[in-house]
Amino acid sequence: MPQRRIDNFAIGMASVPQLHKAGVMPVTGTDAPYPGVVLGETLHRELGLLVEAGLSPVEAIRMATLNAAVLIADEWGTIAPGQRADLELRESAVIWALQPETAWHSAVSNSDYDALIVLAPHINTGLAASLDAFLAAAASVDQSLTSEQRLLQSAQWPGSRLVFAPLQGLDKDYLDVRMIAEAAGEAVTTALRAGARRPLLCLAGVAGRPGFASAAQVAVAGIAQATWQPLEARSAGILAAPIPELVGIYAPGLYFDAPWSRALESGRCLARDLAGTEPEAMAPPGFSDYCVAAFAGSPVEVTVTADPDRLAEEYPLLMAVARASMTVQRHHPRVIRLSYRAPSPTRTLFLVGKAVTYDTGGADLKVGGHMAGMSRDKGGGAAVAGFMRVVSELAPQDLSVIALVGAVRNSIGAECFVADEIIKARGGKRVRIGNTDAEGRLVMADLLTQLREEAVTTAAPELFTIATLTGHAALCHGPYSAYVENPTARSLGIGAKIAESGDAWGDPGEVMRLRREDWHQNRPRSSAEDLVSSNPGPSVGIKRGHQFPAAFLSTVAGIDEHGLYSERPLPYCHIDVAGSAMEQGDWQFGKPTGAPLMALAGAYLRPALGAIYSCRFP
Ligand SMILES: [Zn+2]
Repeated sequence: MPQRRIDNFAIGMASVPQLHKAGVMPVTGTDAPYPGVVLGETLHRELGLLVEAGLSPVEAIRMATLNAAVLIADEWGTIAPGQRADLELRESAVIWALQPETAWHSAVSNSDYDALIVLAPHINTGLAASLDAFLAAAASVDQSLTSEQRLLQSAQWPGSRLVFAPLQGLDKDYLDVRMIAEAAGEAVTTALRAGARRPLLCLAGVAGRPGFASAAQVAVAGIAQATWQPLEARSAGILAAPIPELVGIYAPGLYFDAPWSRALESGRCLARDLAGTEPEAMAPPGFSDYCVAAFAGSPVEVTVTADPDRLAEEYPLLMAVARASMTVQRHHPRVIRLSYRAPSPTRTLFLVGKAVTYDTGGADLKVGGHMAGMSRDKGGGAAVAGFMRVVSELAPQDLSVIALVGAVRNSIGAECFVADEIIKARGGKRVRIGNTDAEGRLVMADLLTQLREEAVTTAAPELFTIATLTGHAALCHGPYSAYVENPTARSLGIGAKIAESGDAWGDPGEVMRLRREDWHQNRPRSSAEDLVSSNPGPSVGIKRGHQFPAAFLSTVAGIDEHGLYSERPLPYCHIDVAGSAMEQGDWQFGKPTGAPLMALAGAYLRPALGAIYSCRFP
């Protein structure tokens, strides 16, 4: 740091108590517009520095709350129903920040818990002297404690159990907050196996680390992911491991919002159930019934279209995919509309989800063992439904969300559609089928068209398609979602915003751009068609195999007529979760992750910690 800045800092620190004594009313947050100031995190550091400079903790908190409110206007500054609020002070958060030793004692002595789990970079956790002395003694007997997770026994801890999980590699800039989710999930699993049901998780040594602001909530998400078990197992009452009854969180210096975590988890659980369940129970009718039940009595309205004639009229491409399934009643398609209308919307998300409940590939049959796992081809639609569940729990004031999920089985049989057919889409485009295993884009295209029709008459719309669409996305990005955005979405920073949120919440992805080659790939080859749905072979055998489907969707739905230089630009982002929807990319046995649910929820349902958005809608 330059000497000038160091000097200025020292002058600032010295002048704080003088100004305070002189009766000046200081406020925090006046540096918020400056680039590099990480909102939220820096405020917490600033509060600490103010106390260091000589103010009492209460005076410091007043600078960040009451003083600013008094300066701004009269609808702020008091705590009463109907008043505006942008910061919620929770008793526990304040106590943790200012008196960690007291809070530690009350957390650990709470008889609700039957195991203590400590996640920290090293055995000098800084959480409590008694804990650090215990860990030092244990490490003197077993040195592996400093590098490997261990279960230790002592009557001084809840349930006589302590799981210590060293967070190794915090100095590595390529590691991200997912390490917290993984360590928390593993440590809680250890405690559960040992007989615990109500663990208290303590997280130390990560506060202030860039990208770890939401580490406490990510830890809870990791525990929920690790302890989730398939719907089939829960229904049969045969569980591979016990499910925790209660999880406590103690994370000094870190933000934690329990209602947010609960909302997020209810959405992820729905997404995992829908995505992970076997293809008969979760055939399209089962999928839509599960959605109807999940949203009963919630602010999300659900309507299901099941009538084949109506489906054929509204969604001809989807019905082409469903054609072979029409011979089996229980496999008939459904279109599920989930809508949430905010009281005073400033923005509306339009989401399309692909829920192919089983993908045989159709006439372009998946052979050579490539069909196993294809009951998971509903991960995108499952994530959309899960996101709507979070929306229903949080009921945002200013964000409306309209979603359409296409639940279809891509079967093979005498009625199946084949490559070379030309099908007229809802919007009028004549689509030449390139390969029946590239069915996801066909399932979504007419749904996207319908939402585009609604979006053009809605203020500040954003359009999305979310799908386990291509093997190419998984090959390119491994376990990361791919956000393929059009130029309008890019101009608004939509992909970047979701990517930033994904990093913060441990649900990461990569931002891709639609390019001219992507349109070229879908071009008509004769006057018989307006465009071709795909290349004849698998997506992994062609360049830009996961980007060009977004150009196809954009063209069929007429979004490309609403480009950046048109009168009504429409932002559109296609999210391919083929690589991220299942743990380890294992479609057959991996647990569903709900991706990109957390990234989207972080970006749209709460201000992402540490992010500054300056984009304006055109
Ligand atoms: Zn397919």
